[in-house]
Amino acid sequence: MNDSSHPADAPRPIDALDGIGPAMAAKFHGLGIRRETDLLFHLPLRYEDRTRLTPLARVRPSTSALVAGRVVHQEVRQGRTRSLLVTLEDETGQLVLRFFRFYPSQRRQFAVGNRVLCFGEVRFGPGGFEMAHPEARSLRDGEAPRLPDHLTAVYPTTAGLGQSRLAGLIHDALDRALAGRLALPDPLSDAGLPALTEALVAIHRPRADADLDALVDGRHPAVQRLALEELVAQHVAMARLQRARDRQHAEPLSDADGMAARLVAAFPFEPTGAQRRVIAEIDADLSSERPMRRLLQGDVGSGKTLVAAAALARAIGSGRQAALVAPTEILAEQHLRTLSEWFVPLGIEPVWLAGKVQGAARRDALEKLAGGAPLAVGTHALFQAGVTFRDLRLVVVDEQHRFGVGQRLALAEKGSDGARIPHQLVMTATPIPRTLAMTAWAGLEVSVIDELPPGRKPVTTALVDARRRDEVVERIRVALAEGRQAYWVCPLVEESDLLEAEAAETTAAELERALPGTPVGLVHGRMKPADKQAVMQAFKNGRTRLLVATTVIEVGVDVPKASLMIIENAERMGLSQLHQLRGRVGRGDERAACVLMYRGPLGELARARLEVMRETTDGFRIAEKDLELRGPGEVLGTRQTGMLKYRVADLLRDADLVERVEELAGRLEAADEDRLIDRWVGDAGRFADA
Ligand code: ADP
Ligand code: MG
Repeated sequence: MNDSSHPADAPRPIDALDGIGPAMAAKFHGLGIRRETDLLFHLPLRYEDRTRLTPLARVRPSTSALVAGRVVHQEVRQGRTRSLLVTLEDETGQLVLRFFRFYPSQRRQFAVGNRVLCFGEVRFGPGGFEMAHPEARSLRDGEAPRLPDHLTAVYPTTAGLGQSRLAGLIHDALDRALAGRLALPDPLSDAGLPALTEALVAIHRPRADADLDALVDGRHPAVQRLALEELVAQHVAMARLQRARDRQHAEPLSDADGMAARLVAAFPFEPTGAQRRVIAEIDADLSSERPMRRLLQGDVGSGKTLVAAAALARAIGSGRQAALVAPTEILAEQHLRTLSEWFVPLGIEPVWLAGKVQGAARRDALEKLAGGAPLAVGTHALFQAGVTFRDLRLVVVDEQHRFGVGQRLALAEKGSDGARIPHQLVMTATPIPRTLAMTAWAGLEVSVIDELPPGRKPVTTALVDARRRDEVVERIRVALAEGRQAYWVCPLVEESDLLEAEAAETTAAELERALPGTPVGLVHGRMKPADKQAVMQAFKNGRTRLLVATTVIEVGVDVPKASLMIIENAERMGLSQLHQLRGRVGRGDERAACVLMYRGPLGELARARLEVMRETTDGFRIAEKDLELRGPGEVLGTRQTGMLKYRVADLLRDADLVERVEELAGRLEAADEDRLIDRWVGDAGRFADA
């Protein structure tokens, strides 16, 4: 079958691969893998060395090892839980394998006399070194195990998609690419970095002597190569949008009705000087024919919602439609409540649209929007197909970095009628060092709210070793007794959101036990949006006063009464993420505190990073410090912490690549631009440079 709208070398969608049905495809989509080629750009989290056998006498704790041996002893130990203990022996010595949960088949696999090949982490046990729950394969007598000649990559995956399945598909795709059966054009082959296929091999199948730290934290030339390509692709896509926009017009919004003034007069508080200044900047944009493309940057808690409301009021007062879009349902509903409070007294009832609005309610909402209802609030459901507006003239997007360029485009298309497009205001709390802001927000003018509303008390921050967890729990007990509310943020588990949810459940149960009589709320990424919302609402109302959460609470939640924030494994989080989390407290009248728990001992760099959090609450200073402290070390990329929507590139880490982007992009032919946009941004057709 030949679909003429696709380039000849278009990659197959993931569900065209053998054995991948719609349910499995959905799991791949969740990982950002939609097409065959996306498999190649799904980068490993870490690597394991299975290239050589470690003699049993030579294993060391806290390292993973591949070992082989004969079972010389097996027993089931009855302790608090039943465990299976197996002793392996080779010509150098012995090693104990321990299984806390086991199946009868494992007892057979490890019967005395059998030979096995095992991979796992070695640690101290009661009787010497041992390996808990190794992966194991039986060996026949005399069989020499066949070992890979490269390191084994471990990929981030998701519940129901096993590591070996995912890795198998990635390696198959790589084999096809190497054999020329999967087209992989390489328009940047002259950029002084490894060629594309070479880079992919270095990433997915590194040699045993490869610089793994560099591969994992992205400084390796192979990863840099991909990052550069991605940056170029984003740049080209943005430039095309920019050119298209220069030919477009927007409608000047004069607010003849004076609604913005009435709204500001009715606010429950005086706007700060910074809020007034930014409102004036936006007003000037909105009264022009030139479509506004403005980024509103303001630290967490700086009061961006009020500024957004003033802009929305200006559009509505001009007799036109305006919409506010947020990346998650929790956040969108929070805006719905705030805006309803402010707009309903002015006779404006917001129309609510999110994924979960279905059936009659959805039909009703769609009808209102098509009929010209003045104010829409919701998630990206607002710019899906099937939603039409009568005269949408302003779109406000909250927390922009959660949306990719593609989604931003869909949004602009939504309100365009031929040559006219809506004004756009994009709000973010992510502080980006000024040197990098240009690239991150290409084509946007920037307004900054650089003043917090009056009466904010700075959040005091303490660093506490995780071994002093009891003291932290005590601190919560005291805070709750004083009538305060607290958050407990559980660590990020990158490999699986299932493990992450389990860890949060365990923590909530533990805290419930340690603090009898305290209702504990629990919210994590695997819950349905409606359930999350109910839990957040209970916390907001004060029905639960301790909220255990995974990092899903990161964005935009406003519960003024919460004044204590505990963050576990803070050493593993990005500084800007810590800053966002900490910004959830200190919004009310109480003195607020944040406890950063870490699992020691801390390296020098990790300590310096956490010290920054203790020393300052200024988001820009934190971002700049983060940049300064980077370099070799254990810093997690901002990619993982969700700061920007890049797959490989990291604007802080790759600042020097950013400088080359413009020149490289300028040398590309249009067809190569198409290929790169298609590969990294998706759907090049929509970026047609007509
Ligand atoms: P963010 O910029 O993080 O989105 P919000 O708009 O949620 O911040 O505002 C944070 C809190 O500050 C809210 O509770 C809001 O009501 C309050 N607030 C905003 N502006 C002011 C002001 N000028 N004076 C007092 N409180 C304000
Ligand atoms: Mg906000």
